[in-house]
Amino acid sequence: MYPGQSVKDLIESLNVPHVEVDLILINGVSVDFSFQPAPGDYISVYPVFESLNIENVTRLRPLPLRVPAFALDVHLGKLARYLRLLGFRAAYRKNWDDAELVAYGVANSLIVLTRDRGLLKRKLLKRGMFVFSTDPEEQLREICRRLDLYSMVNPYTRCLSCGGKLRDLVYGSGEFLSVQERIPPGVLSWCREYSLCTVCGKLFWKGSHIKHLDRIIRTIQDECLL
Ligand SMILES: [Zn+2]
Repeated sequence: MYPGQSVKDLIESLNVPHVEVDLILINGVSVDFSFQPAPGDYISVYPVFESLNIENVTRLRPLPLRVPAFALDVHLGKLARYLRLLGFRAAYRKNWDDAELVAYGVANSLIVLTRDRGLLKRKLLKRGMFVFSTDPEEQLREICRRLDLYSMVNPYTRCLSCGGKLRDLVYGSGEFLSVQERIPPGVLSWCREYSLCTVCGKLFWKGSHIKHLDRIIRTIQDECLL
C-alpha cells in the first residue's frame, strides 16, 4: 500500500477484479472504491452477494442483483448454453467484441463472465466475474458455487440456442398441431412432451441428448446437498 492509494487500486493489485466486489468495510464501516485506507486499517472485502440482502449497507452498487443474469465473453459459448439449461438468463453473441460485451452487460444489468482479466478492469463495467476453469461443465459448477445459485435452478425453462423463455405445448392442442409437421416421425411416434421458444420459435423435445443434459443438472443439484 502506498500513500494516497485507493482501496479499489489496492484490491486490484491483489488480482481481485473490482467488479467482483460488492461490499468493502474499513474498520467495520462501508466505504466506496475511492476511499484511501491508512496504515493499520482493517479492510474487509466481500464478493457479490446473491443470497443475503445488503442493500442498506453497500455503497458500491445502486441495487444488488437478486436474480442473477449474465452476459458471456465469446470464448464461453458452451457455458452460456449450460446456464440457460439451468434456467438462467445468459446473453451471448459469438461476434461480440470486448466493448460491445461490456456495453450490453452494463445496459442490461448483467454479470459479465470472462476469462480475460483485462476486460474486468474496464471502468465502465459494473458487475463481472473472472471464470477460473477452462472446462465448461466445471465452469458451470464454479459459477453456481461462487454465487450460490442452487436455490434458483429451474431446468428446461430456457431455449439453449437463444436464451428465450420456453413454453410447454399441450400435446394435441391447436398450437401443437400447428408445429407438428416440424417433428420427425420417429420422435412423434413416442414423445408427448414438447416446448416452444417464445423468442426464436425453436421446438424442443426430450430426445436422446437429454441424458447428457440431465446428468449436468443432477451434478449441480448434488453439489447443493454437499
Ligand atoms: Zn430460442
